[in-house]
Amino acid sequence: MNELDRLLRPDLRGRTPYGAPQLDVAVRLNTNENPHPPSPGLVADVAAKVAEAARSMNRYPDRDAVVLRGELARYLTRATGTQVGAEHVWAANGSNEILQQLLQAFGGPGRTALGFDPTYSMHHLISTGTGTRWLPVQRLPGFRLEPAAAALVVHEHAPDVVLLCSPNNPTGTALDLDVVEAVYDASRGLVVVDEAYAEFSHRPSAVSLLAGRERLVVTRTMSKAFAFAAARLGYLAADPAVVDALQLVRLPYHLSVLTQAAALAALEHADELLSTVDAVTVQRDRLVREMCSLDLEVVESDANFVLFGEFSDQRATWQGLLERGVLVRDVGLRGWLRVTAGTEEETTAFLDALRQGLATTDGKATA
Ligand code: PMP
Repeated sequence: MNELDRLLRPDLRGRTPYGAPQLDVAVRLNTNENPHPPSPGLVADVAAKVAEAARSMNRYPDRDAVVLRGELARYLTRATGTQVGAEHVWAANGSNEILQQLLQAFGGPGRTALGFDPTYSMHHLISTGTGTRWLPVQRLPGFRLEPAAAALVVHEHAPDVVLLCSPNNPTGTALDLDVVEAVYDASRGLVVVDEAYAEFSHRPSAVSLLAGRERLVVTRTMSKAFAFAAARLGYLAADPAVVDALQLVRLPYHLSVLTQAAALAALEHADELLSTVDAVTVQRDRLVREMCSLDLEVVESDANFVLFGEFSDQRATWQGLLERGVLVRDVGLRGWLRVTAGTEEETTAFLDALRQGLATTDGKATA
């Protein structure tokens, strides 16, 4: 053991960091971004708002991001049909930071977070990073969750935090609200529904369940449907008492004045940004259809990505696609790969590369 390994927290020794490869490849379909870049009009508005905000860069930003939270609340009200106020909303640098703040405040040493595997890898990593014990529970066949079975494990383990994910990364499967209700009723801890991909799904949001459930939290992000991944803006909706609790762990002035200004500009263009959602879901449905016709196993998706398999060696298939100029994601799930719905051209490039790969041994699907 070298000197730094000895100094490192024992629970972090030997761990692997989050590491989606950032490779310079023509077609990048590995991190579930929206493939449609912002319009020149939006870029100009972001630049103007950021320039205006830069005039006061000598001062710290609004620590409570009140104006931005008000606009996020207005958007959520419009998107979900449930009245949400600024006091129910909290914002941070990506929903990963929101999840981290939640686990800092409600998890921590001696506490447990339960999630349903396979799920978003950062749920495990953020739990570990905050000293929270991660308790993975296997999903039902087809990566489903059902109310009674989910409630039973939550009741048995009595975790301090339950992390649900709908639509779930990497499977694309969405939860019916009765699963969220059953898990909530069976738990005594915080129940977080990670809705990073909600805009790609037609199912009702768990935001509609917030009233009267003070332990329920819904997290969202502008990184996916909003096509705003590089700017880093995530948020949550919850009881105002949850927002108050997070004040104990958030760093002061965590959300820069530039980020707040850029996010406000993007929210003014919400309709334009979200108009790309239909184009993305058309490509997602095309991915499902065409991969089914290739005799692959494909999981029905409510998100902007699709899980497909089953390969005898998914790493070899991943490598074969990369050599044909297409980067997809090996999420570490044996036999499966995940591909993000791209533009029509990117999706075509992926499907062509996949067909070529399947014609050779490297992409061979197992029966
Ligand atoms: N939740 C899920 C399910 C995700 O897939 C991601 C991004 N891959 C995030 C949260 C975090 O996104 P961000 O920090 O960009 O908001």
